[in-house]
Amino acid sequence: MLTDEIKTQLIQAASEARQWAYAPYSNYPVGAALLTASGRVYDGVNVESAAFPTTMCAERVAIYKAVSEGERNFVTLAVVTANGGSPCGSCRQVLAEFGLDTLVIIADAEGKIVREMTVGELVPVAFMPEDLRNVSS
Ligand SMILES: [Zn+2]
Repeated sequence: MLTDEIKTQLIQAASEARQWAYAPYSNYPVGAALLTASGRVYDGVNVESAAFPTTMCAERVAIYKAVSEGERNFVTLAVVTANGGSPCGSCRQVLAEFGLDTLVIIADAEGKIVREMTVGELVPVAFMPEDLRNVSS
């Protein structure tokens, strides 16, 4: 069960990771912490590049780290930004790939929860793996 204590720990982990964000262009550092069903937490930060399209978001860094360690079942993703900004569309789509029930907690730099919702709520009518199946040509 996801207790308030666990939520606070995730927000703290995301907040601590945020210091390592590489965001010299946007000056918008983001930290993320992803709790998986195994109980492990994977953090992530945004990593920008002078070639802007190659920039990667904190949320996807955390997800990719988890997946690269064999994790695919996610419980909760905490995201911390200065002002509680929401995950971008690309991150929402990648989150949806691994399940619509994952809880997303969005907090500001003070650790205050700004929003709390499921991936399904963040991505209504998501394009899902099933959409690539059951296609009659
Ligand atoms: Zn993103």
